[in-house]
Amino acid sequence: MAYRITGACTGCGKCESACSEDAISRGWRRYEIDPDLCDSCGACDYICPANAIEPD
Ligand code: SF4
Ligand code: SF4
Repeated sequence: MAYRITGACTGCGKCESACSEDAISRGWRRYEIDPDLCDSCGACDYICPANAIEPD
């Protein structure tokens, strides 16, 4: 299992710096999570002010 970023993402970038696995990067419209790198720690979900991250 990995986490994913939904369309509610505002692009603030807080999740990128919160991820210790370097799994989050800026995509075309929103930030994205690489499921191969994500270890499902939940840190990004906890920190996201837009509640835009959820378990996939
Ligand atoms: S913290 Fe939330 S709103 Fe900010 S870039 Fe990440 S997913 Fe988007
Ligand atoms: S759940 Fe953890 S490892 Fe996965 S993207 Fe979020 S912060 Fe990174």
